[in-house]
Amino acid sequence: MPPVERRRSRQIRIASHRVGGGAPILVQSMTNTDTEDAKATAEQVAALARAGSEAVRLTVNTLEAARQVPVIRDRLLSMNVDVPLIGDFHFNGHKLLTQVPECAVALDKYRINPGNVGQGSKRDDQFATMIEQAVEHGKPVRIGVNWGSLDPELLARLMDENGRLAKPKEAGEVMREALIVSALESAAKAESIGLPGDRIILSCKVSAVQDLISVYRRLAARCDYPLHLGLTEAGMGSKGIVASTAALAVLLQEGIGDTIRISLTPEPGGDRTREVIVAQEILQSMGLRSFTPQVSACPGCGRTTSTFFQELADKIQGYLRAQMPVWRSQYPGVEDMHVAVMGCVVNGPGESKLADIGISLPGSGEKPVAPVFVDGEKTVTLKGEAIAEAFQAIVEDYVRTRYGPGASRAPRRKAISIQPAAD
Ligand code: SF4
Repeated sequence: MPPVERRRSRQIRIASHRVGGGAPILVQSMTNTDTEDAKATAEQVAALARAGSEAVRLTVNTLEAARQVPVIRDRLLSMNVDVPLIGDFHFNGHKLLTQVPECAVALDKYRINPGNVGQGSKRDDQFATMIEQAVEHGKPVRIGVNWGSLDPELLARLMDENGRLAKPKEAGEVMREALIVSALESAAKAESIGLPGDRIILSCKVSAVQDLISVYRRLAARCDYPLHLGLTEAGMGSKGIVASTAALAVLLQEGIGDTIRISLTPEPGGDRTREVIVAQEILQSMGLRSFTPQVSACPGCGRTTSTFFQELADKIQGYLRAQMPVWRSQYPGVEDMHVAVMGCVVNGPGESKLADIGISLPGSGEKPVAPVFVDGEKTVTLKGEAIAEAFQAIVEDYVRTRYGPGASRAPRRKAISIQPAAD
């Protein structure tokens, strides 16, 4: 697969992470706890970080929330979690950053929404105060425009200018342009105040897929700041996942995007870490980064009427993900491993041979035998009731012998290339 050519941008640093300029695309997430509740927020940040979030954003909306930010940082360190924290400021960020300097210090990046920094004559001063805080404390800033809170004065100005054109553009087009102008003008203003260009990252979030693609293509063409990507208010469940993937995949394939966040609305009682896993799966499915060994599983059909096949696929996927916090350091490269769990002999042996390790289950109604393929070769045929346990033991042994210290198994280079059909 040819590599995606990354768009050239400046490079910034968020704590120890390099962002932009060809660095790996960073996975971000955001808490939904009350930041004034330091215990609950620290626990959620830790869960997000352990799931793989490489930076976590917190709402900082009150004086008490700002005071709790360093407390959250200390709690995280006592939990052995060292993840960059990003403060999300709207309306009163200028006050919070100046009145609670320990918050300004504890954060690793500030997110400023230029549509929510104040109005009229106060707007510029309040924006400048926040930027001055970033300069003083050496922090990077994301200028994060969102069409739900677009600067009304800027939009009115562009609408007026559009109205004077001989052929005015449609309102949606003016709105998209306003998002881009808001980000670029704010970035220029921040630089004029003294924030170095290599401490600025931009985003222009909208909630419609085609609008997001259009806005980011144009934004990427008009600046060399790193870009944070995300479809805002993506929604719940499969709708949110599909819409985010559709939008981000197009842009990432064009080399646009240096950090990503998937803005999923959790199901009631749902797990906030889902947004991290979806972000990782988008990047890994596109071959842009590797996080967890991939499991290929067929969809099942009339030949897999028992639940055994689904249970094994689910168990192996869950097992691999659960091992990663330890395996990541113990078995470097294991995140690139490819496991196949296939339902029957129709495609099972073929897909299993292409994986590093694969199993082809018998299908329901057939005799319970399951050939296992390791590095493309059939090694053993499992039989009986304990097929799942035996396969997991084979996977564990494979990981140890291929990725462990003094690994005895040489990595197999797959020489198979499937060309697109001529039709
Ligand atoms: S591999 Fe077998 S079980 Fe899986 S979808 Fe194909 S025919 Fe059905």
